[in-house]
Amino acid sequence: MTASQAGDGQALYVATSLGDAVAALAARAPHAVPLAGATWIMRAPIRQERDHRAIPYVAIGAIDELRRIDVNDHEIVIGACATHAEVAARLGGLPDCRGLAAAAGNAANPAIRRIATIGGNLCAVKFAASDFAPALLAAGARVELLSAAGERELPMERFLANRSTLIPGSLLVRLVVPRGQMRSAHVRLPLRKAGDYPVAIVSMAAKLAPDGIAEEICIAVGSVEPVARRWPHLESEMTGRKLDADRAHALAAADAGSFSGRDAVEAPGWYRVQVLPALVRRAVEILQAQP
Ligand SMILES: Cc1cc2nc3c(=O)[nH]c(=O)nc-3n(C[C@H](O)[C@H](O)[C@H](O)COP(=O)(O)OP(=O)(O)OC[C@H]3O[C@@H](n4cnc5c(N)ncnc54)[C@H](O)[C@@H]3O)c2cc1C
Repeated sequence: MTASQAGDGQALYVATSLGDAVAALAARAPHAVPLAGATWIMRAPIRQERDHRAIPYVAIGAIDELRRIDVNDHEIVIGACATHAEVAARLGGLPDCRGLAAAAGNAANPAIRRIATIGGNLCAVKFAASDFAPALLAAGARVELLSAAGERELPMERFLANRSTLIPGSLLVRLVVPRGQMRSAHVRLPLRKAGDYPVAIVSMAAKLAPDGIAEEICIAVGSVEPVARRWPHLESEMTGRKLDADRAHALAAADAGSFSGRDAVEAPGWYRVQVLPALVRRAVEILQAQP
């Protein structure tokens, strides 16, 4: 066990194994939280989170098991402390992982991508602009959590919808992404330049028949509402039809009103909703261009 005082009575405990981390979180309950890359935690003062100095942190970045990315023919298993840069590098060459690799490789900026972890990105509950959330939703990923009560695995959709109750006292351990003959795309609109939070994100994964018919399609939208979610109406309208960028744009424009855009400093809610059809069109064009 390694502990250090970080000032103002705030103890930082550096966990050396998964079991050690879970035990440390339980021993410091209910206030302790995991600390991974700290790129979200370090901005607590900017978000005016008043009591961040009193939080006992359990650092998990030194746990080897959490940094692994394992790829086999059926699935990809990504440890929660894999960084954006590591995910982008490992998945970049896999033809069925283009969407996920694009999410990892285009979020934030190179300095943040080298430090920020996939687990921290998904567990920052108030962060609406996560690139990984819609990309993992579209990819049909599952989440594995570990707490003193044991392990549990759940679909990304359920995890995202229930994060605020699931995360306290738990560690996100890994993400499991099924593999298949899927094409995928991740399209994001940053307002001004690389490094800005995306205003809106559309992630798509599709299985196409040889004649171009979409046998399966999964579409997820991020950064528009407070939590990323799938777009079921668009999915059902596009399933069983040939991919067609103009038709997808028209369908998205007709149904974009089903999203309630969130107002935030970088863009108003109405704008986030208005750009969705263009992002859908772009995502379909990317899928069409993939071999
Ligand atoms: C300048 C800048 C630009 C950015 N741009 C983007 C962007 O374009 N797209 C994007 O998606 N993100 C962006 N981000 C956000 C960034 O991706 C997140 O800050 C980062 O992924 C958080 O990961 P971390 O490892 O630093 O988490 P930390 O800051 O260490 O933790 C974040 C939260 O998650 C909890 N946590 C961490 N790991 C776990 C775990 N394994 N289990 C349970 N809880 C855990 C922590 O307790 C904390 O509450 C940007 C950030 C910055 C600073």
